[in-house]
Amino acid sequence: MGDGPLIRDVSEAYPGTLHQQGGTVNDASCLNRTAVYGVVRPHQEEDVRTALAHARDHGLVVSVAGTGHSMGGQASHPGALVLDMRGLDHVRVDQDARTVTVQAGATWHQVLEAVHPMGLSVATMPSIDVLSVGGTVSVNAHGLDFRAGSLSSTIRSLRVMLADGVVHQVSREQEPELFHAVVGGYGLLGVILDVELDLVDSEVYRLDSRVIDTHDFPEVFSADVADDPAVRMTYTHLSTSPSTLLDEAIVYTYTRLEAAEPVPQLQARSSDRFGRLVLNLARTGDLGQGIKWSAQRDLLPHVRGCTQSRNEALRQAEACLVGRNQAMFESLGLLSNRLTQYTDILHEYFLPPDQLVPFLADLREQLGAHHAQLLNASIRSVHASDITLDYAQGERFSLVLYLSQDVSEAGNADMAHLTRELVAAALRRGGTFYLPYQQHYTREQVAQAYPELDEFFALKRRHDPGLLFQNSFFTRFG
Ligand SMILES: Cc1cc2nc3c(=O)[nH]c(=O)nc-3n(C[C@H](O)[C@H](O)[C@H](O)COP(=O)(O)OP(=O)(O)OC[C@H]3O[C@@H](n4cnc5c(N)ncnc54)[C@H](O)[C@@H]3O)c2cc1C
Repeated sequence: MGDGPLIRDVSEAYPGTLHQQGGTVNDASCLNRTAVYGVVRPHQEEDVRTALAHARDHGLVVSVAGTGHSMGGQASHPGALVLDMRGLDHVRVDQDARTVTVQAGATWHQVLEAVHPMGLSVATMPSIDVLSVGGTVSVNAHGLDFRAGSLSSTIRSLRVMLADGVVHQVSREQEPELFHAVVGGYGLLGVILDVELDLVDSEVYRLDSRVIDTHDFPEVFSADVADDPAVRMTYTHLSTSPSTLLDEAIVYTYTRLEAAEPVPQLQARSSDRFGRLVLNLARTGDLGQGIKWSAQRDLLPHVRGCTQSRNEALRQAEACLVGRNQAMFESLGLLSNRLTQYTDILHEYFLPPDQLVPFLADLREQLGAHHAQLLNASIRSVHASDITLDYAQGERFSLVLYLSQDVSEAGNADMAHLTRELVAAALRRGGTFYLPYQQHYTREQVAQAYPELDEFFALKRRHDPGLLFQNSFFTRFG
């Protein structure tokens, strides 16, 4: 049994098998070890209902978890019965309707594997495929497809089980208020059981990369990316090398090919080990950072897992062809850190386009004043969405930071201070910040970034009057 003061030993009475009895759970930050009542892994809908009933009958709270990649305790609560949704992972494709219905615990990897043989692809997804569909719908994730924007725009409907065990099918037409709160609702309204998503054609792209001065990014993005309808996906890496820190960038674009290319089978990625080596080099200091950036800029394109058709390769020796699904078939390999003295923490800020470059100046200044080390920085583009906790509220460039901190009190304090400074800077510039990561911000800052915060929590209380669903986000800000 767990060691927290809130833990009561009622697990003997659990009407089924607990995947884990007592003990603790943690998340991707490795900094949120939380003692829980236990973990149940439902394999059918009825198991979810049983778990909720057991929690209600025994005065327990419930936290819902996908693959545990949030970084601030969003999928746990002290003493909670944790629903590990990974046992609910069926994927059903409707080729005629061009939709896929995915149980919440399935990963995007499983979705890509299911749709690819049918010549179809997801309309958008996060940029790594190991995350669960339920967990990413619950944060309204986004990725490389800047035209689609965030996941919410690609959801036709979803089914959610509320605290009383009743299942609601919700969409923009059916119970829209609930739909808009569940998407991006951090598991506080109910348990998402499955989600019906739009599919699009699988395509073959030409992947190009181009090194630019970061100050030119807004113009380059507008002229060469957004205004070119053939460009379907994009991301940009910023330099983390001391000599060009945040001043130099590599813009990657995926351009749809005019000539129909046969879409090849999905292949496992091959360059993870090299990428991880390069990233770990960056932890060693300025020299390592310089080598890492040179490798990203000059070497990585040559070891990238491209699918290059023979004819195209003959025509265009430098071209790198990649299928849409292959581009998104990206595991965590590159990012998984096996060094236990450090942990890697993500931040993400959403800036009005004209505020990105000024915010980078704020960032450079703050990095100089803190110990946390910037391992990776990238830019994506998102649009406003109609969900209650919308992070974009307009056309935004999103800046994703991948930072390394020491696993120590001092490391935590440094990261907390850095986060607060960057959140304040983003808000000053009319920007916002993403909520799945560490929560070193104040309630006022969350309310400023998310103007419908109070409505969101009021709706939660209406649908969950017993406050069955709890996590760190609700404890801190609810
Ligand atoms: C290395 C890394 C890369 C990332 N890349 C991206 C990216 O490219 N784009 C992006 O937008 N985000 C990205 N993220 C953030 C990521 O999308 C979120 O952390 C997401 O929540 C992870 O999904 P998960 O399955 O791990 O969810 P968890 O961390 O397990 O849960 C997250 C939240 O969802 C809730 N939840 C989970 N399942 C359900 C369910 N079935 N019903 C109701 N609520 C549920 C939980 O209660 C919790 O509040 C990344 C994170 C990491 C660590």
